[in-house]
Amino acid sequence: MRVRSFMCILALWAVGVGPLLLPNFAQSAETEKFSEPIHIVVTIPVLKDFVQQIGGSHVQVMSLLSGLESEHTYSPRPSDIIAVRKAQLLVEIGLGLEVWVSALVKNAGSASLRVITTSKGIALIRDQSRDDVPEGATDAGHDGNPHIWLDPENAKIMMRHITEALIKVDPSHAAEYRDNQATYLRQLDHLQKDLAERLKTVADRRILVYHPAWPYFARRFGFRIIDEIVTQAGSEPSAHHLQELIRRIRKEGIRVIVSEPQMNQKIPEVLARETGARIVVLSALPGAMPGTETYLNLLRYNVMQLANALS
Ligand SMILES: [Zn+2]
Repeated sequence: MRVRSFMCILALWAVGVGPLLLPNFAQSAETEKFSEPIHIVVTIPVLKDFVQQIGGSHVQVMSLLSGLESEHTYSPRPSDIIAVRKAQLLVEIGLGLEVWVSALVKNAGSASLRVITTSKGIALIRDQSRDDVPEGATDAGHDGNPHIWLDPENAKIMMRHITEALIKVDPSHAAEYRDNQATYLRQLDHLQKDLAERLKTVADRRILVYHPAWPYFARRFGFRIIDEIVTQAGSEPSAHHLQELIRRIRKEGIRVIVSEPQMNQKIPEVLARETGARIVVLSALPGAMPGTETYLNLLRYNVMQLANALS
């Protein structure tokens, strides 16, 4: 008898409850199938990582730069125009970093494209050498150094711009975007704490850098930039400036020269050979070297390389 009533309940479930549940399930699967990811184009790979961290499976992101090119001297390809034309959002740094982006947006000619400038609201560091930039030069007209993302506190502001933009385009996943952002910001805090701990024992924090990519990074982590090889990416230092750098490295006992994979390696090599200082290759962009594929990895890599070289 007991077995029989149990069978009855099973039968009831199969006939009655089953059909009630199934259509709902089918319907939600159908909705998921038809919700296309948001198509987003970003200028540099660090922005791709940020957008993916927040957007998860709801975004499809393409970065114009792969990480191997210089962010200042990139020239867009025809396929970039097509990508921008298809995109709903274009995410940039701004501040004149991507001098090539406004022409690209214009050529794509998409009326529905929204451009998200992630540097809005960030306190800028003015380049000391900015007064020397000749008129008409690519960076002229902007007051601040554009390499804002290399300070994780700035990255948090950038993430907020991206989260807001995604919520505007796709409000149905707002809670998910906010959760993802919160999770990521916690990871970032954790990493910052780790790195600060590692740096505690590093006394001499003086470095010579290649191009002015590092002021925000240096300020956050307590490195001291004593000079730059070039004041603008894509330019070459004069023989006089190189002589001056060699003299200064020797006189002040500077131990570390920061090179970058996107730049001509011969110049830092000459300086190292002449002075005995050590070359440390750091990247401002994720993906240029193994172990720097994400922003968190890149930050850890850059700080650890310097910490080890300066210890
Ligand atoms: Zn740069």
